[in-house]
Amino acid sequence: MVSLAVRGGTLVSAEESWRADLFIKGGRITRIGRVPTAERELDATGLLVLPGCVDLHTHLASTPTWTPLDDFAHGTRAAIAGGVTTVVSMVYQEDGSLRRGIERGLRDAESSLCDFAFHSVVTDPSADAIAELPSLVADGHAGLKVFMVSNRFVERTVDYLALYAAAARRGMLVAVHAEDHLLIERSTAALHLAGKTGVAFFPASRPVEAELLAVRAAVRHATSSGASLYLVHLSSAAALDEVRRAKGERARVFGETRPLYLYLTRQQFDRSDAALWVGQPPLREQADVYAVWRALADGTLDTVGTDHIPRSRADKLAPGLTFDKIPPGVANLETLLPMLYSEGVRKERLAVERMVEVVATNPARIAGLRGKGEIAVGNDADLVLFDPRATRTIRASELHSACDYDPYEGWEVTGWPRTVLLRGEVVYDKGEIRAQPGAGRFVRRSALA
Ligand SMILES: [Zn+2]
Repeated sequence: MVSLAVRGGTLVSAEESWRADLFIKGGRITRIGRVPTAERELDATGLLVLPGCVDLHTHLASTPTWTPLDDFAHGTRAAIAGGVTTVVSMVYQEDGSLRRGIERGLRDAESSLCDFAFHSVVTDPSADAIAELPSLVADGHAGLKVFMVSNRFVERTVDYLALYAAAARRGMLVAVHAEDHLLIERSTAALHLAGKTGVAFFPASRPVEAELLAVRAAVRHATSSGASLYLVHLSSAAALDEVRRAKGERARVFGETRPLYLYLTRQQFDRSDAALWVGQPPLREQADVYAVWRALADGTLDTVGTDHIPRSRADKLAPGLTFDKIPPGVANLETLLPMLYSEGVRKERLAVERMVEVVATNPARIAGLRGKGEIAVGNDADLVLFDPRATRTIRASELHSACDYDPYEGWEVTGWPRTVLLRGEVVYDKGEIRAQPGAGRFVRRSALA
């Protein structure tokens, strides 16, 4: 592998921005500052040099009964084109075995263009599943995912709390979807009974109260079990206030938001094609949008994760679907970074250093992905050469997801990745994907201290 120098750019870390050159050898950053001539030179004059983004929330792996529209081969094209160089995908427990789900994920990820790791979704918190945890951690799979929103969580809370306690002993992070199952079930039934089954009623079926109740319970669970809980896709002012309070009391909770909550409100559900924006939780009010920005700036939120799981227009808009049957989720991997820069940094809602912290440094640290998320000597040379002046109109037809629409279609964005490096190799350059499927590698997750 040839040596590479990146010259003339402005490096950005979670703490500061500064002018310096980089020297890369063997896929890693070996020098920062004044660096010698390399076999290959990259000019980054006028560009920001950011660490590659680390997205802790994607759904690229298959299950026995489902293959995502954006699998690893498609979804990671969108990832690298958007400056995301490491993705963490959910993998589902299979026939009772967490290991089997991971093996499926590893097979699927053979076509990945970027580096990857996993969260194991626990659908059956059995003694057998708990017994698997030590060997998973030993193999670098130190993360679990639990859906509080499922009826299983309600029926087997005691077993899930035993799982949390076992995760705590092994230093495994537990990602948690916090919405209250019973409240959603009750709201959904009442709306159906009243004949209110259209997509316009989707937000009413999953009220803020459902998120708040579950976040409160999750904070108690973190405290009682000793586990570190990563609360995914937080959406409302009330839930964020609860997380802020819990962090003030040193509860072991981390907060993630989903990009959509920064840019859109429930007004979207007045549209005839509203189903295109259905995801969980739903889009909220303008006051919640402000609260999410504030929480992102003040440290209540630690990360932005995409929850990337696009569905085709036809699947979203299929006639006759009641609000609770519309498949949830949207594409977001390619627009994560440019939207956050354009709407956050340029509009002075977020410092550029804080942006780097929430999309790269924090996620790498929280998930135990050593060598990722930060420009530092010894770390992997995963870099985004970002042009802060590039302007672009978002068009699904020009993006790399397999999806045929984008939730931000028509948005004008300033700032876009020009060149993306994965372990020192150019994987994306000026609109062109340069990596082949299989370029990505599994990244071991270290256990939490
Ligand atoms: Zn998700």
